[in-house]
Amino acid sequence: MNDEKAKTVLVAGGAGFIGSHLVEALLAEGATVVCLDSYLTGLARNLRHLERESRFDLVEGDVIDALPARVGRVPFTHIYNLACAASPPRYQADPEHTLLTNVLGTRNLLRLAEEKEARFLLASTSEVYGDPEMHPQPETYRGRVSCTGPRACYDEGKRAAEALVFDYQRMGRADIRVARLFNTYGPRMRPDDGRVVSNVVRQALAGDDITIYGDGSQTRSFCYVDDMVAGLMRLMDSDVADGPVNLGNPGELTVVDLIDRVLRLTGSRSRIVYRPLPTDDPHRRRPDIGRARALLGWEPKIELEQGLEATAAWFAEEQRRAPRPSPPAKPAVPSSDVVAVAAE
Ligand code: UDP
Repeated sequence: MNDEKAKTVLVAGGAGFIGSHLVEALLAEGATVVCLDSYLTGLARNLRHLERESRFDLVEGDVIDALPARVGRVPFTHIYNLACAASPPRYQADPEHTLLTNVLGTRNLLRLAEEKEARFLLASTSEVYGDPEMHPQPETYRGRVSCTGPRACYDEGKRAAEALVFDYQRMGRADIRVARLFNTYGPRMRPDDGRVVSNVVRQALAGDDITIYGDGSQTRSFCYVDDMVAGLMRLMDSDVADGPVNLGNPGELTVVDLIDRVLRLTGSRSRIVYRPLPTDDPHRRRPDIGRARALLGWEPKIELEQGLEATAAWFAEEQRRAPRPSPPAKPAVPSSDVVAVAAE
């Protein structure tokens, strides 16, 4: 099954931001790859340059539904499940769909893995830790998630997906791997995604107001997409099946600090406006990647400056091609709730 040349891989969510980079890396490694995507947040143009690749197929379908027959016929050896909207405004736009994507979608793909005897990797999330009391967050931390709040559809959906994956393992029905992805950024983030990196880079380049939710003292740790993809592939190819593995960059910074760096990098004179912090927005987040380091020999290599430069260059090129981008996804708070405007 681990014969590199014989790999036949399904990437569910392969037209999305991380998925499309993963598809490219798998093809570069020699695998045959099928991408399954609903295009809810993924974009066909992320993969358009691969259309003529004979080892690649692109199938439209939602993992919530019965899998398309074209997918069912392929003798997969590996299945990656990256199929879910991941940006808060996006996944909150249809919370029922988000929750069921994680539960029913994961179940449909696990059943496929069982049938094909393919190894299955779930892209889970740091959101399983909720607004954490433990810092940084190791895999053993059980988290502080609200099961009633607006993020629950995603957080609890991913927690349920993890539960199902480990049940399949206990029942001997699938060979599984679980990665918990922390904030990831890079080229092909949707400019209208509503994430802090995509919002701020787009706003800075366009000279628009930069939106800080809360006072900007909340922290995140940002991992460049190439590092993330390398980690996912390393985990898939490893023997590490005895629990989840955090993947992320431990370099932690505040939202204010991130914005300073983007403003310096782009030379932007955008103003900063403050909006209320969305409900249940985690105050601190930083991965403990001791397990990934020890068991996978993996750690991120790309510095934030370098990653932000590549990201800003990509966004600038996008804006040049489409000078009037669609407006950002609806923010988690209405714009009439702007509470303060800072000087330049
Ligand atoms: N955020 C912000 N301005 C924005 C978008 C997001 O200040 O335009 C904040 C958001 O409230 C959160 C952090 O930046 O505290 C990271 O948000 P993102 O949506 O990128 O990721 P997540 O909250 O899922 O970690």
